[in-house]
Amino acid sequence: MFVTGGVMSGLGKGITASSIAKLLQLAGQRVSCVKIDPYLNYDAGTMNPVAHGEVFVTEDGGECDMDIGNYERFLNQDIPKSHNITTAQVYSSVIEAERDGRYLGACVQIIPHVTDEIKRRITSIAEDEGLDFLVVECGGTVGDIESLPFLEALRQLRAERGAPGVVFVHVTLAPSLDVVGEQKTKPTQHSVQELRRIGIQPDFLAVRCSEPLCASTRQKIGMFTNVPARDVLSCHDAPSVLHVPQMLHEQGIIDSVFTKMGKAGMVDASANWERWNRVAGSMAAGGPEVRIAMVGKYVTLSDSYVSVNEALRHAGAGAGRTVRIDWIDSEQPGGWGMLSGYGGVLVPGGFGTRGSEGIIGAAAYARDNGIPYLGICFGFQLAAVAFARGDLGLGGANTTEVDGKAEHPVVGLLPDQEGAEGTGGSLRLGSNEITVREGTLAGRTYGRTSIRRRHRHRYEINKDYLERFERAGMRFTAESDGGRRMEALEIPSHRFYLGVQFHPEFSSRPGFPEESFAAFIRAASSA
Ligand code: GLN
Repeated sequence: MFVTGGVMSGLGKGITASSIAKLLQLAGQRVSCVKIDPYLNYDAGTMNPVAHGEVFVTEDGGECDMDIGNYERFLNQDIPKSHNITTAQVYSSVIEAERDGRYLGACVQIIPHVTDEIKRRITSIAEDEGLDFLVVECGGTVGDIESLPFLEALRQLRAERGAPGVVFVHVTLAPSLDVVGEQKTKPTQHSVQELRRIGIQPDFLAVRCSEPLCASTRQKIGMFTNVPARDVLSCHDAPSVLHVPQMLHEQGIIDSVFTKMGKAGMVDASANWERWNRVAGSMAAGGPEVRIAMVGKYVTLSDSYVSVNEALRHAGAGAGRTVRIDWIDSEQPGGWGMLSGYGGVLVPGGFGTRGSEGIIGAAAYARDNGIPYLGICFGFQLAAVAFARGDLGLGGANTTEVDGKAEHPVVGLLPDQEGAEGTGGSLRLGSNEITVREGTLAGRTYGRTSIRRRHRHRYEINKDYLERFERAGMRFTAESDGGRRMEALEIPSHRFYLGVQFHPEFSSRPGFPEESFAAFIRAASSA
C-alpha cells in the first residue's frame, strides 16, 4: 500500500499511514511500514530537529525520520533502519554498482536503474519479512522534483503487479475558508490530477479537514477524481492521533481494501480492537494535571522531541494524570526560580554549546530545590557537570563538547572515538545492553538488572572523576560495555534525581510507558 501526499506538507501523512497499518494489524495481518524520504541526506542524522523534527533512533542504530517513531508506537513493533529509504541511499547503491562494473556497457539512468533499485528495496523488505502488507509512505508532495523517481517506481510496481496487489492512498486537504464553512474540493482535484499526470490513479483519498467531510463534498471529490465516494475518507480533527484508526475503520477502509483484494469477509478483529481501544481510551482519559518543564535548545518546533512528548503522555496515562508540558528555552534570560512551580524538570538530548549553561543552571536548581529531575543524554551529561561545579567544587568542570580545554573534563569523548570529532557518522548509535545496579533508584525503576536501550551520543562520563562524584553523593548506577561506560546517575538524598546516557523515549509505547518516564511522572505527581 502506497501513501502519497498532495496539496502541501504537514497534513499528517505519517499518521494516516500508521493508522491504516494499525487497522491491518488489528485485522490480524502481518504488517510493517516504510518511509521514503526524497531528500539528498543519506539519513536524518545530520538534519536540524527544529526544521525537520526529531531524529528517531532505531534498535539497529538508524538515524531515521520521525515517522519511523510513529510506526513503532502505533504498531508496538520495532522497525529496522532499512525501512527509511532516502534518495542518497538509492543513488549510492546505483553508483557503487556502476563502479563495480555491474552495468557494463549500459548507460546508467534514472529509469530503469534508479527505479529498479527503489523497487528492489521495497519488495525485498516485504518478501524477506514475510509480510501480508507493507505500507509505504512517500515523503514530500506530489509535484516535487525530488519525489518523481520514487513515484515512477511505485507506478511501475502497480503496472507489474496489478491492482489487487498494490493499493494507492493519496492524502489531501479540503479547507473551509468562509464563515459558513463550505469544504473546498479544488486543491484535492488538482492534486489528484497531478498524480494522474504521472500515471497513478489513487484507490483511496484520505482528506484532511477540520470537520467531518460532508456527503456532498465526498460525492463531488469522488466524481472529479474517479475514486468511489465510499473510498473518499474523512480525516477530520481528532482528540488524539490514536483515534485516527477508529475513525478510518468506521468509514469501512479495511472492508474496502480486502474487497479489492478478493478477501472480503475474511477478517475478524474484535479481540484485537479491545486492547487498542483500552490504550487509546486511557491516553484520552486525562486526570489531575502534572506540570513538566522541558528545558532545552530546540524548543520552537514541538516535533523536535516527539518521542519525549509521547513518552511523557504514555507515562501520564499510566499514572492517571494529564501531563502538561511547558517548553522552556535554556537561553531564556533570568534565573531558574520559575521552575519551582513545576512537578518535574526534564532535560532531553541535545548537542553543542548554545544553551548549555542554562541547562546546567536548571539541573542545579532542580537538585538544590528537591524538584524531580529526569536528564536524558545531554541532560544526563550536564547534570554531572552541574554536580561537579556545585558539590565537588570544580568550578572549571564542563563537557569537552562545550569547552575543549575544560580544566575538569568530567564529560569527554568516548574512548574509541578520540580523533573522530567530525559530525556525520561518528556517534554511538542503537541499542546496547545495560547493567543496572540493584538497590538503587535505577534498580527500583527498572525492577531488573539488565535492560536494552538505544543510544545516540559521542561524549560520556569521564571515569577519572567517578570516585569524587560518589564521595560527594552522586552515584552512577548503570553501566555498559563491561563497565567502560556510565549509563545512569542519581542522587540518593534527593526525591527523584535521575540521569540516563541512553534514550528511554525511543522505547516507550502507548500502554507500555518506558520505566524511567513512568517513575519520573509518579515522582512529579506526588509533590
Ligand atoms: N551531545 C551529546 C553527545 O554527543 C549528547 C547527545 C544527545 O543528547 N543525544 O554525547
